[in-house]
Amino acid sequence: METAGAGADSRRSTTTGRDGTGGAVTNWAGNITFSARELHRPASLSALQALVAGSRQVRVLGSGHSFNRIADVDPDAAGAALLSLSALEPSVDVDTSARTVRVSGGVRYAELARRVASFGLALPNMASLPHISVAGSVATGTHGSGNGNQSLAESVRAVELVTADGETVVLQRGDDGFDGSVVSLGALGVVLSLTLDLEPDFGVCQHVFGELPLSGLDFEAVTSAAYSVSLFTDWRGPRFNQVWLKQRGKSPVGFPWAAPASAPQHPVPGMPAVNCTQQLGVAGPWHERLPHFRAEFTPSSGAELQSEYLLPREHALTALHILDSLRDEVAPVLQVCEVRTVAADTQWLSPAHGRDTVAFHFTWVPDAAAVLPVVSRIEEHLAQLSPRPHWGKVFAADPAELGARYPHAADFAALAGRLDPAGKFRNAFVRRFLGPLL
Ligand SMILES: Cc1cc2nc3c(=O)[nH]c(=O)nc-3n(C[C@H](O)[C@H](O)[C@H](O)COP(=O)(O)OP(=O)(O)OC[C@H]3O[C@@H](n4cnc5c(N)ncnc54)[C@H](O)[C@@H]3O)c2cc1C
Repeated sequence: METAGAGADSRRSTTTGRDGTGGAVTNWAGNITFSARELHRPASLSALQALVAGSRQVRVLGSGHSFNRIADVDPDAAGAALLSLSALEPSVDVDTSARTVRVSGGVRYAELARRVASFGLALPNMASLPHISVAGSVATGTHGSGNGNQSLAESVRAVELVTADGETVVLQRGDDGFDGSVVSLGALGVVLSLTLDLEPDFGVCQHVFGELPLSGLDFEAVTSAAYSVSLFTDWRGPRFNQVWLKQRGKSPVGFPWAAPASAPQHPVPGMPAVNCTQQLGVAGPWHERLPHFRAEFTPSSGAELQSEYLLPREHALTALHILDSLRDEVAPVLQVCEVRTVAADTQWLSPAHGRDTVAFHFTWVPDAAAVLPVVSRIEEHLAQLSPRPHWGKVFAADPAELGARYPHAADFAALAGRLDPAGKFRNAFVRRFLGPLL
């Protein structure tokens, strides 16, 4: 079976180049060498518009934290441009009276969060790593955790795009097609800026608890125990090794099912916790507790692959028992599995669209040949539960089935056809999954 949205590529390039100096351009994990020989970095809006208008195919690379070919141009496509917004002046403009922030396309969550917090405001949630770009994250439906927390894309109220002819277009919440324009897989245009809703600043205390057996697990009660809950297991036994609770404010957490950890923990057993956000219930600002990893430790590359499947939350226990039955296959290639919850959202291509969700994430060893058969086995066994794979991670799903799991896939195809009639922003990844509808 072909893998990973044409994704998990076992080659590792010897040179990582992101600046057009002739080195191969690779993703953060190093498992993908992009087809483009060069990464264009326009330094002005007019240069960006000219590049887009003059290219036959255009894809944007954000911070390169996806694990498949979603950001790539087609191999050997004449006149194709892979571009980065990193040479454009970054901007994060907070409007305190409207409680919104307008952020330019290349900015990462860590920079955005620091600036927003300096105005006494907050984002409702963050992903585990703050070093990922905002535009790239929302384009793939990236999420954190929390029964009441939606995907990061749901905070977006306006998207400013450079479309195929180099013109700028703004779509705002309520506009026709807006619900398809945020989780866009990069297929509508270059995202120049996003405007996000904010809320008043809040503090968070992070508590980590130890072993929690699968047997007798009350999933709803456990995931309701705090604002954001993450369950970690190495699948070497029928239990979670750790439970991370992120509680808003200073109210105590009640967690009668496991013992509190007495020292800071890393989600991967045996790894030092030095780059993890502060634990042991020490109160801190939202942006220094909601991610698992600290902004000041920037991992420039990662020795791992990732997969993730988002299912209706009512199937959480069934899925956990299915995964438990695959433990002997999963554990040998796994670093850690994280189980999170995400509230239903309205974004057409969000894996949490229209359904309260449980997300099963796997951080694998960086060995695609060993990991991919296990990914296929997990997909086979979860198929009955209508899983939607994370767009930015390794998966092997059948394209036809995937389209059927998104009730608005045809609406997205129509939007792409309207904004980009010639398909300049579509690559093999996008055509493969939405092709029959486009
Ligand atoms: C260590 C690590 C931790 C992670 N944690 C989480 C997590 O907690 N939750 C979760 O859901 N995911 C998580 N992810 C996955 C990650 O959030 C996604 O892969 C996300 O898309 C990465 O953003 P990026 O900017 O690196 O995007 P890229 O991989 O660079 O690109 C992703 C997509 O966005 C498009 N894109 C990027 N910028 C633009 C732009 N300006 N205009 C148009 N299109 C654009 C690209 O073309 C591509 O289609 C994690 C990944 C890593 C490596």
